[in-house]
Amino acid sequence: MRLSRQIFLRVLALGGVVLVLLLAGSYVVALDRAREARVQDITRYMNAIVAERDRQFARVTAVMRRFNEEFLADHTSDVAFSEADFWERFQRTSDGAVRSRPDRYATRVEVGSGRLGRMTAFVGDNQPVTDPDLRRRLLIAWDLVARFAPLLVPEGLYLHATFPENALVIWHPTFPWGLEARADLRMNELSTIGRTLQSQNPDRKPVWSGVYIDRTQDAWVLSHLAPLDHEGRHLVNASVDINLETMSSELLEQPFREAYTFLVADDHRVIAHPAVESQDPERIDVLRLDDVEPAWIVEAVRDADADNGVAVIDQEGTERIVFVAALQGPPLRYVLLYDRSRLAALARRDASMVLIAMLLLFAALIGVIYVIVREQASVPLRNIRHVVRAIGAGDYAAVASGERPLPTHLKNEIGELATVTRQMAAEVERTRADLESLVAERTVALEVANAKLSRLSLLDGLTGLHNRRSFDADLANLVTEARRGDGDFALIMLDVDHFKQVNDRLGHAVGDQALRAVADALRASSRKNDRVYRYGGEEFAVLVTRLGDHFAERFFERVQRVLASAEVGGRGLTVSAGVAICANGEPDASVLIERADAALYRAKVGGRDRLERFD
Ligand code: GH3
Ligand code: MG
Ligand code: MG
Repeated sequence: MRLSRQIFLRVLALGGVVLVLLLAGSYVVALDRAREARVQDITRYMNAIVAERDRQFARVTAVMRRFNEEFLADHTSDVAFSEADFWERFQRTSDGAVRSRPDRYATRVEVGSGRLGRMTAFVGDNQPVTDPDLRRRLLIAWDLVARFAPLLVPEGLYLHATFPENALVIWHPTFPWGLEARADLRMNELSTIGRTLQSQNPDRKPVWSGVYIDRTQDAWVLSHLAPLDHEGRHLVNASVDINLETMSSELLEQPFREAYTFLVADDHRVIAHPAVESQDPERIDVLRLDDVEPAWIVEAVRDADADNGVAVIDQEGTERIVFVAALQGPPLRYVLLYDRSRLAALARRDASMVLIAMLLLFAALIGVIYVIVREQASVPLRNIRHVVRAIGAGDYAAVASGERPLPTHLKNEIGELATVTRQMAAEVERTRADLESLVAERTVALEVANAKLSRLSLLDGLTGLHNRRSFDADLANLVTEARRGDGDFALIMLDVDHFKQVNDRLGHAVGDQALRAVADALRASSRKNDRVYRYGGEEFAVLVTRLGDHFAERFFERVQRVLASAEVGGRGLTVSAGVAICANGEPDASVLIERADAALYRAKVGGRDRLERFD
């Protein structure tokens, strides 16, 4: 298997184990984190919305404070209102109530035009307006409400002034409240205004009404009233009706698919709960939190410590996580219920994303390792393997010369291996070349020796003449050639006379010397094409191929002459000779020798030192 694949599988196997452990750990952590993050998201969302509401309420409070400050300033100033001034704006209606004149109410607001727009006022039929101070306060309130109300309109808030004397000055966008109120209305007997009275509110704190349905708006409304006293007298209440549906639309949005929100008042009345299908105020009116939510949620909402940010009630085993925020202004709690299993599912999804990301990362890492190992190890090693095979097949030269590429550029063990492989090939190549030249050298020497040997094998050691073996071969050749018609030739056989005596008398060394002298004489006497052999012992042979007249006799005479001048051991040497001719290839070698021998024998018998021809 390839190295890269092997490493890949190893890393996959080992890394897989590590990964599984890592993933298991990460999953648990990620799950926890994801859940925590979701909870924080919701908390942040609620905090942001509540903070915006709180800023709105702060503006409301500021406007109301301004109202009261200016009211006090005007009230204590020396601005004088006559009774006529009062009746210019007010009239007593037939039902006994005192109301603002209808022409003062206009649905079209013209700021700065002196027309007072959507202003009305009402004094109950039980309240005389004989007191100039009450009339003064009603007129001051009228002017201030007209001035300040438009400031709050963008917030969906309607400013009015209420009095301890069952009187009201109000700005309202759609409803001429002061004109429509029943004459026998007893506002001070209503809990909210009642709670501003000195008798019920000795601390003179601002008062929040409970949540109620305002029939004039057909909406959930909260009232906020700030009583104003001067020198121990309760003068007026700056009052604001807060239309919860306008002002709290964001609060009542269902921001998360898995969650729903509602507002719950101090008195457990619940607003805009999804359990209420329609916005029918008749139905909502009767809705209390314990009508729509189980007891544990009612308790959780009631007991949550939500004064410093969002309280999270996250109880194992319950279906929902409860988020509770308290509004800084009105006595309302903003509640978000989040489906616990949904939250878990989302957390699992988020954690799974982390897992998938890790898996992808791991896969990418493995891929990178695979590529690196392949490029850096597997491919170079395969390359080296090919080259080593080439070396094994004897192709050193190509490797040594660099014709076969090797990954020698790698700065690691593989690179070193490649370099060593090339060096090895070079070394083998060098050794081979050396060996080859050595063999060539030796071969030449051997050939020289062989030549010498074969030459030696054809020569006689003592005389340096060709030997018997050479003679046999040459004779056979000559017979063959003669048979082909290459010409006649003669064989002269010679034998030293009485040679035994030389040996016997003078010793073998002198005998050898005598043999060399005879050989020299034969060599000197032979012609260019004659060949002289030592036939054996003290016998010699001469093969003559150019047979002129008396060639044998002439030759023999030359031998006799040379020998006559040669002296061995103080005495002359003579030889006897017999000659036989091979004509037209006849006779064959052995018969020719027999014939020459026979002639030689005749020369011996005839007295030696002579030549005889075979007839
Ligand atoms: P003949 O005249 O009848 O030929 O008498 P011979 O004495 O020459 O005859 P024989 O053939 O009996 O003697 C030959 C002698 O030559 C015998 C041998 O000792 C001697 N001989 C043969 N080869 C050599 C050699 O190489 N060196 C020496 N010193 N003597 C040799
Ligand atoms: Mg002899
Ligand atoms: Mg002899």
